[in-house]
Amino acid sequence: MTNRPDMRQIVIARMGEITLKGLNRGKFEHRLVDNISRRLKPLGPVEVYQTQSRIWIVPGSSSIRLDDILDRVTTVFGVVSASSAWEFYGGMDELRVMACQYMESLLTEGKPATFKVETRRGDKGFPFSSPVVSAEIGGVLDERFDTLTVDVRHPDYTLYIEIREQGRMLLYSRIVKGLRGLPVGTGGKAMLLLSGGIDSPVAGYLMAGRGLELECVYFHAAPYTSERARDKVVELARLLTGFCGRTTLHIVHFTEIQLAIRDAVPEDMMTVIMRRVMMRIAEGLAARTRCLALITGESLGQVASQTIEALAVTNASVSLPVFRPLVGLDKDATVEIARRIGTFETSILPYEDCCTLFVAKHPKTKPTLEGTLACEAALDIPALVASGLANVEEVVL
Ligand code: ATP
Ligand code: MG
Repeated sequence: MTNRPDMRQIVIARMGEITLKGLNRGKFEHRLVDNISRRLKPLGPVEVYQTQSRIWIVPGSSSIRLDDILDRVTTVFGVVSASSAWEFYGGMDELRVMACQYMESLLTEGKPATFKVETRRGDKGFPFSSPVVSAEIGGVLDERFDTLTVDVRHPDYTLYIEIREQGRMLLYSRIVKGLRGLPVGTGGKAMLLLSGGIDSPVAGYLMAGRGLELECVYFHAAPYTSERARDKVVELARLLTGFCGRTTLHIVHFTEIQLAIRDAVPEDMMTVIMRRVMMRIAEGLAARTRCLALITGESLGQVASQTIEALAVTNASVSLPVFRPLVGLDKDATVEIARRIGTFETSILPYEDCCTLFVAKHPKTKPTLEGTLACEAALDIPALVASGLANVEEVVL
């Protein structure tokens, strides 16, 4: 009988394959390792490294739970899936011993269950082919456990065996899906217009998943909006850091600007002009922080300021690209994402954001650029934008 070889429990994470083929491969992998390390740091000492298109995560202390690692690593953008695994070195004899022990750790005593074995042989020098290994280990397990029977179609348990270089072997049974996407930071930086609503946090989340680092801007209109409305946005930005990493929330004191707009333009043009001023201030902040695009939570046709005409007029106020990842989603789809990422409960807290106080009863749904510019002529727009940019508070999260 072969002795039990040294075994350690680790987590393996799989990366997106398409991106791995491009020129950015090295940058992608380094960034992903960094992002995973940062995400796991609160758990304690953990070693994270990359080889053979996998990320290997080795806990440095027995008090760190593999399930906690799995939970965190599967919410890092760029990870396709992850598994907790037993890792050991050996040949067929060691594999037989370890497969039995591994299966024993999975089974509930006395309860009948079905299983199958799937083998991947990365090391082509290993003397047995994958189907031979699967059949051999399947036979061993079938014999060893009275309660186990083979079912290759709908097994209760799948035992995955990986045979890698120099006798390195892995056993695992569960593949947990990750968020996919691109690692945050591989795509540059963008400025998210973050209100207290449901949509903008979701928009930020989706763009972070395309590799963007985020800066956030919130337009605050105290005392028309309460401190609690501000706290709510800070909390939303904090919740986003779980996915996008560090971020800075720029809080623009917007009251004077909003009052100036209200006093100078027709009521039905207030919203669109206010949005154009917000966009310009956001663009100014983007220049300061080296952001190359703006992100909003707008969705086509959702409200009067989000008709195609209104969006066109809003867009014309800036020259940076404006990303609107929700543009083609309906509210239910957005709410579903908000629930999944944990921002929904905070978003629906009943503290008004600055726009709800200054909305007209019947805003123009089809503004024209010409008409808008004519209304804006009553205002000193560059001065308003400059005053907004001079009145910013930063919260680092
Ligand atoms: P949300 O749910 O994100 O508030 P919404 O459907 O309520 O969106 P609006 O209030 O018209 O729509 O705002 C559209 C977008 O403009 C928001 O998604 C957000 O990106 C930006 N925005 C609106 N108000 C603010 C604000 N006070 N500060 C920062 N950004 C804002
Ligand atoms: Mg809103």
